[in-house]
Amino acid sequence: MKAVQYREIGAAPEVVTVPDPEPGPGQVLLKVTAAGVCHSDIAVMSWPADQFPYPLPLTLGHEGVGTVAALGAGVSGLTTGQSVAVYGPWGCGTCVKCAEGKENYCLRAQELGINPPGLGSPGAMAEYMIVDDPRHLVPIGDLDPVRTVPLTDAGLTPYHAIKRSLPKLVPGATAVVIGTGGLGHVAIQLLRALTAARVIALDVTEEKLDLARTVGAHEAVLSDEHAAERIRELTGGVGAQVVLDFVGATPTVATAGAAAAIDSDVTIVGIGGGALPVGFGVLPFNTTVSAPYWGSRSELAEVLDLAHAGAVDVHVETYTLDEAPLAYERLHAGKINGRAVILP
Ligand code: NAD
Ligand code: ZN
Ligand code: ZN
Repeated sequence: MKAVQYREIGAAPEVVTVPDPEPGPGQVLLKVTAAGVCHSDIAVMSWPADQFPYPLPLTLGHEGVGTVAALGAGVSGLTTGQSVAVYGPWGCGTCVKCAEGKENYCLRAQELGINPPGLGSPGAMAEYMIVDDPRHLVPIGDLDPVRTVPLTDAGLTPYHAIKRSLPKLVPGATAVVIGTGGLGHVAIQLLRALTAARVIALDVTEEKLDLARTVGAHEAVLSDEHAAERIRELTGGVGAQVVLDFVGATPTVATAGAAAAIDSDVTIVGIGGGALPVGFGVLPFNTTVSAPYWGSRSELAEVLDLAHAGAVDVHVETYTLDEAPLAYERLHAGKINGRAVILP
């Protein structure tokens, strides 16, 4: 089969032919119908050899939807041809965090060498993929695989970030979304679907700000050194009760801290290497700063329920498997509006 692989440190991903995988005991084989392209892959492909944690070559793709093609020995409860979304942050399944469904915070994954598909295990950018356990699959019924696949990360990650802050997102509150790309443009929709808060979106190009307005942002502000000031003006000097940073770079975390209200949540989702100092008097009183990772199994089911209810509409650009390297180039250049999706 064809697969998109990262093969050599520093090199671009390549489309190659690899043996067709076969499901072992307990595993499920999916025929991939759609695979999402995430900016995290670009970060992963920039890591130097001495810090690269996964074996190479690595088949990319940690957002996957497919149809059940074959069941390994002992697997039941799924039928061939059924359309399913893959829960990506695989855990051990038995530690206390996994027992809560929070496999994204598994206590033993690292020790046991368990890696998500596309981030250590063979991923979804291929004609077929292996899923290690049927518990990682959520049936999607008649949802469109192409518009649904980004929800497994670009939907689930912001959902998880927003959910912890829901008590602060009361009517009259303001939520700021920094970076309105793949994750950010879904975050805006989730905020609108789940809360009555005012949403202020920040990005660096007019095209991205247009998308932010289209998907429901009340205000769209250019992300520059004056952005925090502008947010203060828009909130009568108070600042935002929740700031979600989907860039996470030094200038954006500075904006996030400067835009935060007293008793607010600043959530850094982007892995841009920025850090926000916390200490008495450094940030407004009782501001919490957190850096969450992906989301839980039950949260993926909740996000897909929102999709069934028509509350989220992911903007997608589609590419063939052969065009996947081009999709990464365009994402790297900031040219994707919404999410790029590969159709194997
Ligand atoms: P993306 O490229 O689709 O979106 C990023 C957006 O940020 C783009 O619209 C870009 O124009 C904008 N941007 C760039 N610089 C900016 C600035 N200074 N101010 C405001 N906006 C700016 O990327 P994505 O796939 O949505 O991923 C977003 C980030 O989240 C990445 O860092 C990714 O690695 C990370 N991520 C984290 C998790 C997690 O679990 N924590 C999960 C998925 C992705
Ligand atoms: Zn991702
Ligand atoms: Zn676990």
